[in-house]
Amino acid sequence: MNGLMMDVPLTITSIMQHAEKVNGDVEIVSVTGDNPRHRYTYRDAFRRTRQLANAIAGWGLASGDRIATLAWNDYRHFETYYASACSGYVCHTINPRLFPEQVAYIINHAEDQYVFLDPDFLPLVEGVAAECPGVKGWVILTTEERMPQTSLPNAICYESLVASGGETFVWPQLDENAACALCYTSGTTGNPKGVLYSHRSTMLHAYATMMPDALGLSSRDVVLPIVPMFHVNAWGNPYACPMAGAKIVFPGSKMGDGATLAALINEEGVTLSAGVPTVWLGLLAHLKQSGERVESLQRIIVGGAACPLSVMEDFDRYGVESRVGWGMTEMSPLGSVNASTASREEVGEEKFAKLRLKAGRPIFGVEMKIVDDEGGEQPWDGVAFGSLKVRGPWVCSSYFKLDGSDAHAEEGWFETGDVATIDPDGYMAITDRTKDVIKSGGEWISSIDVENVATDHPKVAEAAVIGHFHPKWSERPLLVVVRNADGEDLTAEEMLAWFDGKIAKWWTPEAVEFVEELPHTATGKLQKVALREKFKDYAFPQ
Ligand code: AMP
Repeated sequence: MNGLMMDVPLTITSIMQHAEKVNGDVEIVSVTGDNPRHRYTYRDAFRRTRQLANAIAGWGLASGDRIATLAWNDYRHFETYYASACSGYVCHTINPRLFPEQVAYIINHAEDQYVFLDPDFLPLVEGVAAECPGVKGWVILTTEERMPQTSLPNAICYESLVASGGETFVWPQLDENAACALCYTSGTTGNPKGVLYSHRSTMLHAYATMMPDALGLSSRDVVLPIVPMFHVNAWGNPYACPMAGAKIVFPGSKMGDGATLAALINEEGVTLSAGVPTVWLGLLAHLKQSGERVESLQRIIVGGAACPLSVMEDFDRYGVESRVGWGMTEMSPLGSVNASTASREEVGEEKFAKLRLKAGRPIFGVEMKIVDDEGGEQPWDGVAFGSLKVRGPWVCSSYFKLDGSDAHAEEGWFETGDVATIDPDGYMAITDRTKDVIKSGGEWISSIDVENVATDHPKVAEAAVIGHFHPKWSERPLLVVVRNADGEDLTAEEMLAWFDGKIAKWWTPEAVEFVEELPHTATGKLQKVALREKFKDYAFPQ
């Protein structure tokens, strides 16, 4: 017997309609190329979204067609998200930090019909436009007065486009399983792969991220999404904030600028912010140097890469709670959050530090398991390592236009490519990427744990550990370090001595090499393939 409840589709159109009616006066503040502090309300945003929808309705696109964006976090990008997806098209966010060949590949693979771009990305787009013959028009996210000279065929001014559309628009009734957004994940090898989100998955993910032990989002929050809208939809913030009625502060191109971030936090009363470890390093460096504080900021979500303990401890001193979040493009992205239930006083400093570095507990809706090489499930004892697999309504079931993938080899599960432990309380800790594990004498060494200890050294800016051939142990860890401004005199001996008593003796790196910088992917992750290639002829000192 079925329940007798209404079958109302879960579409993001309803988020927009709800926010306009219920949270109409709540502000969206943006830094843009043409305005250092643009502000308007959800009511204004969704009126303009209807105008935009009217304007693009004239383009004659078919339902499901892709509209791409190459844009910073700001109100125009936000409007494009909703106008495209709620019209029945798919908003394809492209990471402008990818190599031009990858951008061209992605535009063609996705068969993007129109591309909305920030003027900052004009040189990139002009360079690839000739290789993207399927694109019918290029919309430049600016005003008529600021329209740049361009060689792009059919360049359209965004503000003129919006102004050409009427304010009333009847949104189509969409199936909740219809696609709404597309984001390519750039692995370290092979071509980028497309993750195609549905209205339903996006809605459920947004609901889940609002939960108290996840982002803990409410109408009393002011949210600064520093994580880009081109990186897994800014971790769902553009959907969860209007759902909750939270004010949004978009940093535009200034996500790496500590001074602007501090000003936005203090002047707009930001309570919650989300970003990768690198942006927090930038903000903390600015606070230390300027003596400013961030009184309104209550908590930050740190994800995308392992967070150094020093970042959390620095935020402790500013009275800001830092929560580690773990997830993937393939997971919309949120899978787990560490809103630690243990207190420092209860468990002691050392255990507290270890616990808070973990990736946290699965949020409701995401199931996890860890398996060995034969697929056997490993115990949740906090010690056994295994490949981490996940499933849930916001986890991708296959990649866009790609039949079958190793990651989906086991029916109903997605293989994350991460290696993890899970403790009896459900706290998951990432120890490595599958491809990066180091096996020394047959035993696994967690490169992330070793990197965490290394980056806590006061003279270290960044560190990476790779497995390297060793005649006796088959592999031993090699530590590659970038010194910071205070670290000119840091020696290999001093660095290695730093590990004494902090990790198991045999996990201590075999050797240290100093470099000026480490290779990163377009989403800021360490590119260990490139690092291993650089050190392939290296020999450990006898
Ligand atoms: P992306 O799809 O670009 O967001 O990358 C996802 C990958 O980033 C994951 O599979 C992890 O390897 C890594 N990652 C994300 N969050 C964390 C975290 N909190 N700690 C360690 N690695 C992380």
